[in-house]
Amino acid sequence: MNLFEQLAGYDHEQVVFCRDESVGLKAIIAVHNTSLGPALGGTRMLDYPSEADAVRDVLRLSRGMTYKAAVAGLDLGGGKAVIIGDPSLKSEAMFRAFGRFVDTLGGRYITAEDMNTTVEDMGNIRRETRWVTGSEAAHGGSGDPSPVTAWGVFHGIRACLEVTYGSPDVAGRTVVIQGVGNVGWWLAKYLHDAGAKLAYADVSAKRLGKVVEAFGGQVLEGDDFYKAEADVLAPCAIGGIINPRTIPMLRAPIIAGGANNQLDDERRDGEALAQRNINYAPDYVINAGGLINVYSELKGYGRDKAMQDAANIFDTVKRVINKAKVEGTTTAMSANRVAEERIAAVHRLKRVWLPS
Ligand code: NAD
Repeated sequence: MNLFEQLAGYDHEQVVFCRDESVGLKAIIAVHNTSLGPALGGTRMLDYPSEADAVRDVLRLSRGMTYKAAVAGLDLGGGKAVIIGDPSLKSEAMFRAFGRFVDTLGGRYITAEDMNTTVEDMGNIRRETRWVTGSEAAHGGSGDPSPVTAWGVFHGIRACLEVTYGSPDVAGRTVVIQGVGNVGWWLAKYLHDAGAKLAYADVSAKRLGKVVEAFGGQVLEGDDFYKAEADVLAPCAIGGIINPRTIPMLRAPIIAGGANNQLDDERRDGEALAQRNINYAPDYVINAGGLINVYSELKGYGRDKAMQDAANIFDTVKRVINKAKVEGTTTAMSANRVAEERIAAVHRLKRVWLPS
């Protein structure tokens, strides 16, 4: 497909191709939409099978960031960058060269960590531009986002409980968590502290052992996660797990967890969940704590403030689910509409001229 047709399809503002042969840098920066603020999104490094795959990925991911920031109520647009190449071949010079390209955008695009990029890589970018987040906590950065992400998920779960049972109270409710890594472990802690009954599924026996030792609870094997007679299923591992194979097994009335891309197909699987009266908290709404955390870094980071802002995910999840009920659509579609309506409303604002 012609590149400009592809841009039109995703409705992008700007895409920048960056090349510095001296350090083997080939990168693409996609600025999807800046109606609400600068386009923030991480830089992913991957050895893409083809340049067309890299273009597709950066266009898709940057648009996703626009929606995530908009629903979360942040003054941010959506952007993303990809560096095409084998992550084992990265170097200081490569990330500094990339930082210089980010700098040319003058703050229209702000970068962060993503798949195969690290705090050190962000440090190298920072040597060339201030338009970067995600540096080490010791250097004024926001540090590990997982406790903030999990705090947002915890409040999203409370919102789902309120919509489903009339009370957000977690005490005595059963929550099963798939994936007790960074986000899942913190979520287990918050739920345990609030009096929930817990069960876990993970492919790592070591992680399961650690979480059971810390918070008690049951271990689930194989498909027992999907079949659990629980109040909440909280997917916190991998994407695509809600699909035509797993949906018939579901018995819990709520799906609310931190993993990205939980629905294998947003429309098809979202509709199947709605038909079964399952309240699904759209992943990009409930897991926005990570983005909220780096956003706070732009304003002078404070973990307490980031946690407070992540707790607002309670209201956002409730609003998205209630809107879906009123408009007779799925929660995933309702979240997209909340984002689109906010962007359109702000975009329409008049510019007023003031004498300088
Ligand atoms: P992680 O790698 O620390 O934890 C993932 C856990 O899932 C691990 O314990 C792993 O063993 C387990 N796992 C992997 N495959 C599994 C499977 N098939 N079944 C059961 N368990 C499995 O990752 P994380 O940082 O906790 O992130 C988890 C998810 O949340 C990812 O989808 C990530 O994109 C998303 N997310 C994370 C953040 C964050 O702040 N870390 C923010 C937003 C979204």
